[in-house]
Amino acid sequence: MTIVPNFQTAVDPQKLDKLAEVAVKVGLRLEQGQDLVITAPIAALPLVRLITKHAYIAGAGIVSTFYSDEETTLARYQHAPDGSFDKASDWLYEGMAKAYANGAARLAIAGDNPMLLSGQDPAKVARANKANSMAYKPALEKIANFDINWNIISYPNPSWARQVFPDVPEDVAVGKLADAIFAASRVDVADPIGAWAEHNANLKKRSTWLNGERFSALHFTGPGTDLTVGLAEGHEWHGGASTAKNGITCNPNIPTEEVFTTPHALKVEGHVSSTKPLSHQGTLIDNIQVKFEGGRIVEAKASRGEEVLNKVLDTDEGARRLGEVALVPHSSPISKSGILFYNTLFDENASCHIALGQCYSKCFLDGASLSQEQIKAQGGNSSLIHIDWMIGSDKVDIDGIRADGSSVPVMRNGEWA
Ligand code: ZN
Ligand code: ZN
Repeated sequence: MTIVPNFQTAVDPQKLDKLAEVAVKVGLRLEQGQDLVITAPIAALPLVRLITKHAYIAGAGIVSTFYSDEETTLARYQHAPDGSFDKASDWLYEGMAKAYANGAARLAIAGDNPMLLSGQDPAKVARANKANSMAYKPALEKIANFDINWNIISYPNPSWARQVFPDVPEDVAVGKLADAIFAASRVDVADPIGAWAEHNANLKKRSTWLNGERFSALHFTGPGTDLTVGLAEGHEWHGGASTAKNGITCNPNIPTEEVFTTPHALKVEGHVSSTKPLSHQGTLIDNIQVKFEGGRIVEAKASRGEEVLNKVLDTDEGARRLGEVALVPHSSPISKSGILFYNTLFDENASCHIALGQCYSKCFLDGASLSQEQIKAQGGNSSLIHIDWMIGSDKVDIDGIRADGSSVPVMRNGEWA
């Protein structure tokens, strides 16, 4: 006889309901009459149901959810003809782009097994990712340009929990991951909505200071790192809640601990080492070491996953340049938890990081009114990819470099100076 474990008992139903409420009221700030497009792993169905309930209570027009399933994803890699890997569901992404153009909000629930594709042919994974990125571009642009309110939150999917906590039974792992998600998402307190208001105010204080300083570059030093990241002309720091072009102030990432801006695509010099492994679509890329010249990565090494890293860098011209630099104190709650989540949404909030690829147009002064050409002229990068990787630790110092060449301590030993 097999007893099917009931994961619902491992996930506190009250906190899950709070997470759904926070997603709708803080993450999205869904407006009366606004439609909502959700994507979710099928394991996250209990959370999708709660979010849908809270969305309709908030006055949602129509909520539409698209599910993914790990078994069916693997079936493609195992059985599909070779030509399948250059295809993507363009029609679906065109529909999503149309929904956003018509004012719909977007919610993604993360939680897939980060190692799902680790046993599959990396060439096929890379081709499928590229085809998907190209098809997704019209929809992604609406999100990257912050045309609409959007949010990503997570669900403790059993296959993900097993990766994070491999040494305990699955139901225990799900419970531990659920608790870690609830804590990081600030829903394990009496008043989650109030806690988010306070957290947003703290992040605002940091970004306001950085915007006042108007540094021309940031200089990172630490073990294996001596990197100068020039900042884009007219860059603007953001953190926490921010206002989309549709006028709605939302929290795109839950959790979030970062303040971030746009580097200059042509002005990054030196070398940098990653401080945490990067889990990229099924492959763990560890001990990344890259060298920048004129903003471009000219050398890339990794102790693990180097082949995948180099494939990522060859996606397009912008994939070798930076689109984001972000500051996170080493004492952030996610960092203190000591958990490696194998999920960028969490791991990037444990450490200062940089992102390869596409920049965010909102990270420019008056970004909403800038054309793609203007953004490029000011140093904004463009690419099909946006991949964050971690370069901060308690051994990394950061100085802000002013236009006159003088420097100001920004972080010492991973903490705000
Ligand atoms: Zn970031
Ligand atoms: Zn990023």
